[in-house]
Amino acid sequence: MSLKLYNTLTRKIEEFTPLQQGKVGMYSCGPTVYSHPHIGNFRSFLVADLLKRFLEFKGLKVTHIMNITDVGHLVDDADEGADKLEEAAKKQKKDPLEIAKFYTESFLEASKLLNIKSPDKYPKATEHIKEMIDMIKILVDKGYAYVVGNNVYYDVTKFANYGQLSGNTLDDLNAGARIEVNQEKKNPQDFALWKHDTKHLQQWDSPWGKGFPGWHIECSAMSSKYLGAEFDIHTGGEDNIFPHHECEIAQSEAASGKKFVHYWLHTHFLLFDGEKMSKSKGNLYTIQELLDKGFKKNAIRYSLISSHYRQNYNFTFDGLKAAEQAIDKIQQCVLLLTDLRGNKKEGKIREQLQKLASNCLTEFENALSDDLNISKALAVCFDFIREVNKASDMNSAEAAVMLDTINKIDSVLGVLETIDKEVPDNIKELAEKRKTAKLGKYWKIADDVRAEIMALGWTIEDTPDGGCRFKRREET
Ligand SMILES: [Zn+2]
Repeated sequence: MSLKLYNTLTRKIEEFTPLQQGKVGMYSCGPTVYSHPHIGNFRSFLVADLLKRFLEFKGLKVTHIMNITDVGHLVDDADEGADKLEEAAKKQKKDPLEIAKFYTESFLEASKLLNIKSPDKYPKATEHIKEMIDMIKILVDKGYAYVVGNNVYYDVTKFANYGQLSGNTLDDLNAGARIEVNQEKKNPQDFALWKHDTKHLQQWDSPWGKGFPGWHIECSAMSSKYLGAEFDIHTGGEDNIFPHHECEIAQSEAASGKKFVHYWLHTHFLLFDGEKMSKSKGNLYTIQELLDKGFKKNAIRYSLISSHYRQNYNFTFDGLKAAEQAIDKIQQCVLLLTDLRGNKKEGKIREQLQKLASNCLTEFENALSDDLNISKALAVCFDFIREVNKASDMNSAEAAVMLDTINKIDSVLGVLETIDKEVPDNIKELAEKRKTAKLGKYWKIADDVRAEIMALGWTIEDTPDGGCRFKRREET
């Protein structure tokens, strides 16, 4: 089934056709690294990860770029207020780059814990100032931007399609605009591409004097550098639609003359216990805070991907507990199948079991192809597990097919315990012992050793190349 996605730009569910057959270029607005990212930020990053994994499941080659904003993102998302990085730097009496480094590491660590696949690149804004200046120059040359003193602004009235993504017309925006304090701008909605501020801690030379870039130009410059001026998918949170993504379109399309992005995907807000998340309510949980409360990392991931991305999701501790139970069900089934696969019972694969596995994968794919219908996809997964648990008389080949099916599903969900590289030596030794026993056809010894490995909290799976891999068993 072909993939259908809701495109914020057209406000319709559309069939996804990549620009280049078999390949997808995808850009996700990443974190502004001035504090630890919270679960609300991660919901959006996880939706991008889910989509990327699903595109790969469908056999597409994805090039994924996620930026790191380490300068220029002002407190109110537009042209007012302090730079978020700078504010944190002043508060903590540190250098902005130190702040950026510290919180970038925190973000990467949490991403790893949540089993988010690393994008092909995490470009940093401060390392792409040249590309931004080049794009601003083009915009000035083409008449879309104007220079006042040492500042450069984008003239929104020059871009006919301004408002196409958010639905905000300039008339509406102007009617609701606050009294403009910045007398330099020609129109209240014009936004800064390059800003001059002698007090700003991060400064670069430019044709317009020393200054720093606006937040919006960062994503336009970095996406075009790594994905080209025209690419397939752009993701972000719904709070990015305006002004950030609206401005990205205006900049990129004016500079290149091409259609910037073909499909825009926006993840809706996360609520906590039915309430909006905010600093003042103290419910902006970070991943580490949830781990400190005893929740498991894969349950956090499961919980954050388990509802449709275009619905607000109500995150609760009870939901996290339910997620743990759901993962446990899958994990128990994997253990059962791993055991069955290792048994000596041989034979052909019964037709009904082959069908069960192939139907499961087809239905799972169909569900996610329908604008990432995750609830349906999860229901398919648990129906399959229920049926597998009933068929405990499976032979080794049948168990292998079932296991493969669950692994394929988990290549998208990413919630099962991943292979642990830190396998203790005693487990490795036991594995060697088992291998020797199997080579000598001492099946009883091999089985006993497997049981010993399991009793120590590990499972062992044979790989087609004659090796084996280990998984740590979920503690119960
Ligand atoms: Zn962005």
